Amino acid sequence: MHSRDACVHCGQDWPRSYRAKGSGHVFRLCLECESLWLDGQHLGEETDLYLSEFLESQGIGWGDIEEVAAR
Ligand SMILES: [Zn+2]
Repeated sequence: MHSRDACVHCGQDWPRSYRAKGSGHVFRLCLECESLWLDGQHLGEETDLYLSEFLESQGIGWGDIEEVAAR
């Protein structure tokens, strides 16, 4: 066990903080299964999005998001 909360969907990784470069939206993303939660959402099963849906809704692509350095 590590101190980070494992992704509720795949349990293989933990959601990391990312930011959309254009809009400044901050969200959490699990790279393993591409589950995505908007900033401030509880990282539960019922509130997730998927990366592809989010990118499409924002009209952006993979190159338009960047990882926010963890502290
Ligand atoms: Zn996952």
